[in-house]
Amino acid sequence: MKNVAVIGAGTMGNGIAHSFAQNGFKVNLIDISKEALEKGVATIAKNLERMLSKEAITEAEKVNTLKNISTFTTIIEGVKHVDLVVEAATENTDLKLKIFKQLDEACAENTILATNTSSISITQIASVTKRPEKVIGMHFMNPVPIMQLVEIIRGYNTSDAITKTIMELSKTLGKTPVEVNDYPGFVANRILMPMINESIETLYNGVAGVNEIDTVMKLGMAHPMGPLQLADFIGLDVCLSILNVMYDGFKNPKYAACPLLVNMVRAGKLGIKSGEGFYDYSESRKAEKVSSQFIK
Ligand code: NAD
Repeated sequence: MKNVAVIGAGTMGNGIAHSFAQNGFKVNLIDISKEALEKGVATIAKNLERMLSKEAITEAEKVNTLKNISTFTTIIEGVKHVDLVVEAATENTDLKLKIFKQLDEACAENTILATNTSSISITQIASVTKRPEKVIGMHFMNPVPIMQLVEIIRGYNTSDAITKTIMELSKTLGKTPVEVNDYPGFVANRILMPMINESIETLYNGVAGVNEIDTVMKLGMAHPMGPLQLADFIGLDVCLSILNVMYDGFKNPKYAACPLLVNMVRAGKLGIKSGEGFYDYSESRKAEKVSSQFIK
């Protein structure tokens, strides 16, 4: 396997393209937005420059990585002659189903179709293709070039052979793949999101403030980041949408999102990306705790 297409040049797509290209794969990076492609390649170049300055890579590796990446604005052009597609477009079920239908028609019969979705069922995505045995989840973590884990999710029909191929391939990227089955939240988010939700519930119930909750988890549990800070980093809208997928999928109230989380998303407080979540990220109050207005 030498030729890979990555769909979506956003946060995850550019990181996935970077990882493949740095490990010698030819990567076609595809996005409907020309600006997203330009920004994605610029981010890869900036990250390579940082690695070079830390002597983690050589100048030749930096140049070759960038040389391995070509950009496309249409799926039809970008997936010609590729062995694997990794889809990392916006998290939206209708959009992903549409993309996978297109991919199934445009790709060669043997091309493996992977998705980086954080929460959408792999089995549902596979069901719109005529090759469900070749559809699989490759859930990379953010930031992709740095994080070790890839959660490999087997859909109901994913074959043993394809799972083995993707597990081996992930190792060639220097990652540690972990095989899991396709149920809501997979493993990473099924465990992480209830913890984040419970920390928001703890704040909502007035048990402790933002800094106190994060400090307990950082110093007491040796977490590198507190759960409220992590929620800001992931995006509160993303956390809410993953909790909703688990709530709908299991029909179990234990996954019901805390009303404070719902309210903050409605109010546009989405975390780092909107400039404010549990912490304030504006220039004047960089990462300062937001006032206790959220404590009941
Ligand atoms: P993002 O919003 O940063 O990027 C999405 C990109 O997809 C955009 O550049 C957009 O232009 C492009 N796009 C939309 N429709 C497209 C189409 N039809 N064809 C080609 N490109 C299209 O999103 P992201 O954070 O990189 O997330 C991408 C995927 O990765 C989602 O499925 C998300 O759930 C998953 N994921 C995200 C994270 C994270 O921390 N951000 C972690 C793990 C998994």
